[in-house]
Order: sequence, then C-alpha cells, then structure tokens
Amino acid sequence: MADLIYLDNNATTRVADEVLAAMTPFYREHYGNPHAIHSLGRRSHDAVEAARADLATLLDCDAGEVIFTSCGTEGNAIVIRGLIDRHPDRRKVVSTTVEHPSVLTLLRALEREQLIELDLVPVDREGLIDMERMSAAIDDDTLLVSVMLAQNETGVLHPVARIAELAHAAGALVHVDAVQAAGKVPVSQRDLDADFITISGHKFHAPKGIGALTIRRGIALQPLWYGGGQELGMRSGTEAVPSIVGLAAAARAAREALPNYDRVRALRDRLEREIRARVADTSVNGATQPRIGNTASIAFHDTQADEIVRALDAEGICVSAGAACHSGSVEPSSTMKAMGKPLREAMGVVRFSLSRYTTSEEIDRTVDVASGVLQTARIA
Ligand code: PLP
Repeated sequence: MADLIYLDNNATTRVADEVLAAMTPFYREHYGNPHAIHSLGRRSHDAVEAARADLATLLDCDAGEVIFTSCGTEGNAIVIRGLIDRHPDRRKVVSTTVEHPSVLTLLRALEREQLIELDLVPVDREGLIDMERMSAAIDDDTLLVSVMLAQNETGVLHPVARIAELAHAAGALVHVDAVQAAGKVPVSQRDLDADFITISGHKFHAPKGIGALTIRRGIALQPLWYGGGQELGMRSGTEAVPSIVGLAAAARAAREALPNYDRVRALRDRLEREIRARVADTSVNGATQPRIGNTASIAFHDTQADEIVRALDAEGICVSAGAACHSGSVEPSSTMKAMGKPLREAMGVVRFSLSRYTTSEEIDRTVDVASGVLQTARIA
C-alpha cells in the first residue's frame, strides 16, 4: 500500500524533526531541575526562560506573561476556573455555542453549580458569530468573554479583536482559545487585545502534553492547585523542560513557516474544489468565512461520515468524522448542530486537516480515493 496520508492535523500533528532534536539533550544531558542552583539546574532554567521568550515572540506579548501548561484543556481551565474563583461576586460569562468542549463543558458545569451565569452566543449556518447578540450579551455584569480564534471543525476565524473591543468597553476580560490558530495564522496578544491566550503544542508539531498560556500582566487568577509556586504560582509542579524546549522549537519553526502558509491554503482549496467537482451533493462548511488555511470541513450529503472515514482509512488516508457515536447511535457534532445544519448534511461531515508537510501528490491521491469511496458508499 502507498505511504500513509495524514490529514487529521487538527486532531494532532507529528513531532517535527527539529523539535525532537532540540528536546533530546534535555532528557539525557541537561536534566537538572530548573530551580536547582547547581550548573545542571541553571542550564535547565536558562532553557526554560529562552523558551518563554520564543513563545512571547510567537504570541506577541512579554515573556513575563507566558506560563507553560500541559495542554489546551488545562490552559482554558486555568483561566476560566481561576477567574471565577477570584471574582465570586461578578459571575457572568459570555461565550459561543461552537467552543471546544474544554471550554463549553466547563462553562456548563460551572453554570450547573450556579457559580456563573452563562450566555452562549449562537452562530449562523456558516459559523459566523451573531455579533448583534454578542454585543447585547456583554454588559456591566460580565466578568469574562471566552471566544476561540479558529474553530476546530470548520477552521472559521472569529472576529476576536472586535469582540475584545466590546468586552473591554464593558470592563470584562477576554480569553482567546487559539489552540487551532497558532502556527496557521498570526496570533498576537497585542493585535487581538486579549487578556489570556491558550495554545497547545501538539497542534503545531510539538509533543503532546505541553502547552502555553498568556496572562496579561497585572491580572490575578486563583491557581487550580498549589505547590512549589512555579510558573508565576499559576502552575506548580516541576517544569517539563524537554517538552518546553520542544514547544519553543515548534514555535520558532511555525513562525518561520507562516509566510509560506499560502501553499497549504492552496492545497486545501484544491482539495475542496476537486472533491466538489467530482462528488455530487457536497458542500463546504464555513467556506464563505475567513478560515485558517489547512481545514476543509466537507459535508457529503445523505452519507454517514464514520463509514467514509473507515473507507478512507482502509486506503491509508487518515481524516476525521464530524459525527460521532454516542451510546450506540451516531450523532452529528455539536458544532454542526450549533450551525443549524440539516441532518442529511451534518451526518456526513468529514474533516480534512492539512499540515505544512502535506504534499500535492497526497492531495491528488486523496481526491481520487475520496471520489471512489463516495461512489461506492452512495451505490451501496
Ligand atoms: N481548544 C481547541 C479549539 C481545540 O481544538 C482543542 C483540541 O482539539 C483544545 C482546545 C484542547 O487542546 P488539548 O488537546 O491540548 O487539551
């Protein structure tokens, strides 16, 4: 069989060679605790601080505003929980119906516990946030507005800077889940005017288990746990030095590769164009919106996405299904439901997510195989 074609990069990415090379010495040679005062400790400390500076460059903020976390889910929780615990008196949180579960299920749990009043602003069929509703939702009681920059299923980019303007005018703070945006579009704390930005290494060729969070200088959060006081006291526990070094190497590589990201976008556009030309009754979710360049969310009408994913997998192509199986029955994704997609479209949504390693030949083969698979699926 031909080599594996990996088009599930929004789920996770392969660790880049230069990232692994940067990490390796920190397992075997420079393994000191960054808080130890001997030379091995100082070597680790210097590496962590250099990494912090690299992350600050990627996210256009000060190094003193960056902390390292284990993943995007943790970064989101540190902000949301930490802020609510710190401000029990001001409890309204505004977010959207298409956030990642690490935000949405947390907010819903806090609402159930009556710790917050939650207002989820809807999106339209193209994934566009209803800005009139957003503007009406943000008021003087609002503590936090939490909005993702790039939607993980469709890639749609949200107008975060405009939302931050509305939030700050009302005295609310702004959290941006930029997990799917980092490495695919510029993510600037200054331009977005974000108080908190979450990113996760494994989405841009760093290892799993490492992420970063920016906390704007002067904003206090209640830590989720206590201990040695590492990472501004926000994330106690000995730093994962090799992973932090890997995250920094991935951040540098992503920044360098960003000017060439149009190549990925062109491949994605071709994939969508050719699949639509060759497969009847298909549509592209969020196509009319500004989107990150690597994501194609394609609805194959009147099909079952999980069957298509399995058929592509049998041909060595890894993609993911929007619809997922919950307790025996297949359900459309909550994002497709939130976008109001009819069931006949939502059940057949397949996400193709490219990376800077995706080749033109891989796209050609994916188009060929997908057209064949769809023909078989529709005849069957
Ligand atoms: N936020 C978004 C938009 C995501 O897509 C994901 C993961 O898919 C997360 C948060 C969670 O990130 P992690 O897997 O690093 O916890």
